[in-house]
Amino acid sequence: MHELSIAQSLIELASEAAARDGCERVTRLLVRLGAMSGVVREALEFSFELAAEETPCAGATLEIEEIKVTVFCPSCDERKTLDDGYLFCCPTCCSPTPQILTGRELELVSVEVDEYAPAHR
Ligand SMILES: [Zn+2]
Repeated sequence: MHELSIAQSLIELASEAAARDGCERVTRLLVRLGAMSGVVREALEFSFELAAEETPCAGATLEIEEIKVTVFCPSCDERKTLDDGYLFCCPTCCSPTPQILTGRELELVSVEVDEYAPAHR
C-alpha cells in the first residue's frame, strides 16, 4: 500500500526530529498534502495510526493541511485555483494551463515533541 510507506517515512522523519531534540515522544505532525499528490487522506491517516504503534509517534496527532491545485493561466496572466476534477484548463477563459504551481505537495511541515518526555532520564 502506497500510503503505508508514506506514513512510515513521515514517522521516521518525525522520530528523528524528536531524537535531535532529545525527546522520545512526538505529539503532533503537520503534513501538507496536495490534491494531486496521489495520496488518499483517509488511507494515510489510517496507515499512520497503524505504523506509529511502537514508535515515538504512537498516539501523535497527524494533522493534514490540504493544498488545492493552482495553475498559472498565460491568457489571464494570473494564478488560478482549480476545483476538484481539474481539467488543466483555466476556469475563467478555458485556456490550457500546463504550468502547475501547487497541488503536488507531500511534505512534513512541522513536528511537535513532548518535551516532558526526554530520551535520557
Ligand atoms: Zn485564463
